[in-house]
Amino acid sequence: MEPARGGCRVALAGEYPAPSVTLTFYNTLTRRPEPFTPAEPGKVRMYHCGPTVYRRPHVGNFRAFLFADLLRRVLERRGFEVQQVMNVTDVGHFTQEDEDRGEDRMEMESRLTGKDPWQISREITELFESDMARLRAKKPMVRPRATDHIPEMLQMVDTLLAKGVAYRAGAGGQNIYFSVNAFDRYGELSGNRVEALEAGARIEVNPEKKHPADFALWKSDPKHIMKWKSQFGEHGFPGWHIECSAMARKYLGDTLDIHTGGEDLVFPHHECEVAQSEAATGRTFVRTWMHVQFLKVDGGKMSKSLGNVYSIDDVVARGFEPRHLRFLLLRAHYRAPLNFTWDAMTDAKGAIDRLASFLWDVKSCVIKGAAPGVDEAIAKARAGFDAGLDDDLNTAAATAAIFELVTDVRAKAGAPMKLSRAQAEAISQLLDEFDAVFDILTPEPLSDVERTEVESLVAERQSARARADYARADEIRKILTEKRVIVEDSKDGVRWRRM
Ligand SMILES: [Zn+2]
Repeated sequence: MEPARGGCRVALAGEYPAPSVTLTFYNTLTRRPEPFTPAEPGKVRMYHCGPTVYRRPHVGNFRAFLFADLLRRVLERRGFEVQQVMNVTDVGHFTQEDEDRGEDRMEMESRLTGKDPWQISREITELFESDMARLRAKKPMVRPRATDHIPEMLQMVDTLLAKGVAYRAGAGGQNIYFSVNAFDRYGELSGNRVEALEAGARIEVNPEKKHPADFALWKSDPKHIMKWKSQFGEHGFPGWHIECSAMARKYLGDTLDIHTGGEDLVFPHHECEVAQSEAATGRTFVRTWMHVQFLKVDGGKMSKSLGNVYSIDDVVARGFEPRHLRFLLLRAHYRAPLNFTWDAMTDAKGAIDRLASFLWDVKSCVIKGAAPGVDEAIAKARAGFDAGLDDDLNTAAATAAIFELVTDVRAKAGAPMKLSRAQAEAISQLLDEFDAVFDILTPEPLSDVERTEVESLVAERQSARARADYARADEIRKILTEKRVIVEDSKDGVRWRRM
């Protein structure tokens, strides 16, 4: 299948202002915050490890995937043109232990469910894409699937063999491994040393490997369902790490400005990507590595047995909208611990509602002279918001600055709110900028059921007015306001719309 294109804006020359603000990102490779500058001025090439499409992604997965969206929006806000790629792993995902057993996640799920792995991959990829859209993640420039890039992977394996950093093993040399001892910098990203990995290896290592940390680039197994004919034999399939190296190179070139993923991917996945890519190209693979901390659920790990592997549908079934989850996942700093609980979801929803009703009050305020102290509050909030986002995407600080503004303005502008036009516009502008990054203020469109309910309330209000029962009519208007529906009476009749 041709990978989906579109979504990522391609800038025309001169469309973006030259970035002048310094963004600071924590780089896993150097273990410190660094000022961010892309290799090519104004243009950022970034790659995110996407889902392995064997099971539906859960709330924990979305922490890392939404971070990718946040990062893109912060970069675009600062004027960069962003080329964003997030892959879909639909073959070859095995842990070291799986690798020695020769079973990848897709095949394992196929064995457990009796479904064809190709069918599993199609179904889960569709779910993933619709979940991401519901969570308002912008579409990346490309969402490449591993199975569409087998030739690129085989080509990279050939290069690695030719350079002597990989070797063939097994019957007929159909299994190909990367030799970690042939790459000096192996272990630099994760802090693992090759010698330590050897000492810590389990006794029953795969006897085909020269070193226990060597990893598969290409394997062969006639029992595998997803397999390809290649120069190495009839029944081959790729290792997990090689797919990201091959796809990143195809779409973004030899050197990426940023590569992200969950913290569990630092080792071995990303360490192996660095080894393969740099050994193949002789160039730096990634300039800035960013990793997102695990999401805890109810204070611990998610597990099927605890019944807490929540999908977006579970979240919606509890009466929340996907944007409430989006905010819960984004408002904590990505390198800070975050615990998913239903109370935390209620809290996130309450915070969004507070912000939305504040924005509503600002937009419908009484225009008067400038409220004293409000200009200072706006300036402080803007500075705090900008500084937070620019400082390694500290969304906690950026969000706090906005909520402080709510408190300050409510205290200083009275109720009903009285502001100067310039103040009301400056606040709206800042909240628009906030929402361009967080994207949480617009409610979901009404469902058919809600729409019918609103329409019957509007009709009931009409008949109450017709019989001059203004108390009831007012009551209904209040109920509609709580549902964020505005009723407008005009000479052409009654209309309603969402706030
Ligand atoms: Zn990856």
